[in-house]
Amino acid sequence: MSFVLSEIITHVGAERALSQYHGSLRRAAAAIPNADGFGAGLLTCADELLGELEHGFERDVATPLMSAKIPAQRRVFTVRNLGARAETGMVGLVSNHFTLNPQATAPTVLVIEVSAHVGRTGAKEDSRFGSVDRFGLDSPCCGALDAMLGHTKEGPSGLDWLDQLRMAFGPVRLRVLREMDPAVRLLATAIVHAVLQAEAVVTEFFQTPPPTPTHLIVVSNVAINQAWAPSVLSTSAHHLRCDSDGPTVVEGFSLRSTPEALHIRREGSAVRVEAGELMETTTAQRRRVRAPKETPRAGAQPQPGAQPQLGAPEMTTESGPPPLPHDESLGEAPSHDGPSRDAPPPELSLPASITSKIAETPAMLRARRQLEDVSHNAVLQRTYARPILQALLQGLSVVSPEVGIAQMLVHGVGGVAQANKLQRILEQGPDSPAARQTLHQMEAELQQLNHEEALQVLKILTAETR
Ligand SMILES: [Zn+2]
Repeated sequence: MSFVLSEIITHVGAERALSQYHGSLRRAAAAIPNADGFGAGLLTCADELLGELEHGFERDVATPLMSAKIPAQRRVFTVRNLGARAETGMVGLVSNHFTLNPQATAPTVLVIEVSAHVGRTGAKEDSRFGSVDRFGLDSPCCGALDAMLGHTKEGPSGLDWLDQLRMAFGPVRLRVLREMDPAVRLLATAIVHAVLQAEAVVTEFFQTPPPTPTHLIVVSNVAINQAWAPSVLSTSAHHLRCDSDGPTVVEGFSLRSTPEALHIRREGSAVRVEAGELMETTTAQRRRVRAPKETPRAGAQPQPGAQPQLGAPEMTTESGPPPLPHDESLGEAPSHDGPSRDAPPPELSLPASITSKIAETPAMLRARRQLEDVSHNAVLQRTYARPILQALLQGLSVVSPEVGIAQMLVHGVGGVAQANKLQRILEQGPDSPAARQTLHQMEAELQQLNHEEALQVLKILTAETR
């Protein structure tokens, strides 16, 4: 298999002209050998400023790839909603609609583009992100993401789309973003959002892969709306496939979803974002972001010749054990700060019925294989740890919630407070509504993990249990 992302992946972190970016995406899809057909999906915000992006995707990606059997104007499955929120089911429908021959042994190639967006005003070298000029008025852009940052009240807002956005980001990311330089705050928000929504698409592919051989290329970006020609900042590129062995990763790369790991700088008139491979801090450190002026993190100094980094808050460097994060909006708070899996696990033995399920549950077997597939490469491990973990928890909560709970329990994830709660649930009945609810809650909490933490939890959950 050739490395089909070799061109498009070089754009990750860089601002590109719309047509250049879409040309690279089309060539990536076309590079997959022996394709039986192509399908195209677009997820973006409802904002009218994204019309050019939508038309560019249709003209430069979908139309050249697709069979002439598919009429023009019917070549893109489009999801446009407030803030570009991924809707579970999109991957399945795109696959279903564009798999022309379900009996074919050659793969269908699906291309899904995920676009968040941000406005830019001012001269190119001295521009600000976060608004556009609409008929002489300064207007927030993306309005949905701006509304999310501006909504600081606890509890449900009464607006489903707003609550979904807040849940996806979580309180820790939102706190960091609100403290960033206003000139880049909404850009960073859009980057994090694009990365997370692309992950949601990847997670759906892992959890419910198409029934026929499929290659899926998922790219995400932030469309930049400005007075001159639109451009995009590429934020991730993923190549996945599924066959009779199930879904797995071929290749991919992504910017971080933790805002303090984004290093935003100008490169001439364009914006450039580094992945911050070594910069991401743990959840516990993010909690301390309000702490006044601690030691600057290692490696945060600008590289020689680089322009000053914009907008990131000061952070600390020390590392600690990965905690199971506690989202204050979810469930009861632990009795101590930062429950850690280093806390001694309670003494327990699992029923044989559960240990055998741990060994045989399909979601567990699939997650183990996916983890093994990326184990040769540290960047791949970090990029895909969270989607694999999310898909595993979703799979377990549907068919075998007791498996996930037992694994967390036996390996001490979450420490004593969490373990006591888990054991009570297990005793009530492994298939009880409480067990499912607990896994759903944990899934939401795990969404807050950074890549390294997610990888550690994933390794614990997929470990062999005797
Ligand atoms: Zn928008």
